[in-house]
Amino acid sequence: MAEKRDYYEVLGVEKTASAEEIKKAYRKKAIQYHPDKNPGDKEAEEKFKEAAEAYEVLSDPQKRQRYDQFGHAGMNGMGGFSGGGMSMEDIFSHFGDIFEGAGFDLGDIGEMFMGGRGGRSRGPRVRRGSDMRVKVRLTLEEIAKGCEKKIKVRKLVQCKDCNGSGSKDGSTETCPTCKGSGRVIRQQRGIFGMMQVQAECDTCHGEGRIIKNQCPKCGGEGIVRDDEIITITIPAGVAGGMQLTVPGKGNAAPRGGVNGDLLVLIEEEEHKDFIRQDSDLIYNLLLDMPTAVLGGQVQIPTLTGDVKITVTPGTQPGKVLRMRGKGLPRIDQYGRNYGTGDLLINVGVYIPEKLNKEERALIEQLQNSPNIAPGSADKKNFFKNLFGI
Ligand SMILES: [Zn+2]
Ligand SMILES: [Zn+2]
Repeated sequence: MAEKRDYYEVLGVEKTASAEEIKKAYRKKAIQYHPDKNPGDKEAEEKFKEAAEAYEVLSDPQKRQRYDQFGHAGMNGMGGFSGGGMSMEDIFSHFGDIFEGAGFDLGDIGEMFMGGRGGRSRGPRVRRGSDMRVKVRLTLEEIAKGCEKKIKVRKLVQCKDCNGSGSKDGSTETCPTCKGSGRVIRQQRGIFGMMQVQAECDTCHGEGRIIKNQCPKCGGEGIVRDDEIITITIPAGVAGGMQLTVPGKGNAAPRGGVNGDLLVLIEEEEHKDFIRQDSDLIYNLLLDMPTAVLGGQVQIPTLTGDVKITVTPGTQPGKVLRMRGKGLPRIDQYGRNYGTGDLLINVGVYIPEKLNKEERALIEQLQNSPNIAPGSADKKNFFKNLFGI
């Protein structure tokens, strides 16, 4: 038998992963390797079971601690998997809470995972509101520190008149067609003759309950369109193109279902001084000729205010100065900080294009001076520093 893989490796998470990260990683694997998506693929089925096993242990704080301490050996006698893996039936029975609030319609997940596995019954359908997408534009200063943004979104919210129930007097009745289960049995002609299949109840749309006296404001839906001000907390170090999820801040679902999520797409405003390169910032510094030759103090902007730097005499164009820690916070894919980038200063030297009479005379005087013309070593060093060749 092949050696058991590390559970963290199986789910592709770090040892320090939070419960939410583990859940998310498992969802992804469960969808990727689901038997309905990979019919007849033994390898996918094994991976599917392997992920379920890893999740079973890592989602339980006690089992996880034991596993962290003793590895697979610590799992014997803990129940669950020591006896050779769990059945598909066990795995499916856990899906309810795994996909709660996961950006899917729970009804669809039910269909996706349970469809075609004859005889599996489930309770009434829980509706989930749709996700909403918004864009948020940030300056580099905001990105450097992290910030809170208040945004107004027009979205579906719970109807206040009926508290989201859709009913004028708050009462609902058990659906007479499906007797509250949300499902009905239908006869259907299949390749093996007539079959009984479960389908969503048309009368209550799978909800199991119906409303006699509809709320006039929302027409029995339990939701209305309205403006909402949402405060979004943006962690330091985000970048344009990243998407943050604010759980439960999307559209409300009809009649007391689960809210969708708010997906926040980050956009970055161009900065007047800096060019961003991952977590580093680049600043282009163009020196005048005398300062490059004689050296001196030059003022440089940073995201936390101006600083003075010293330019050494004989600074060549193409030189890059590095100010450590003056860039942007570095974050990993989970938004955790791990240090700060640098500010890179590209140095150029400005050669004046227009001169007056006196200036021209001075430069002409310099032209024949002994230290002005480069020697062959100077020439070599200059191009090597500038272009690397
Ligand atoms: Zn019904
Ligand atoms: Zn209402």
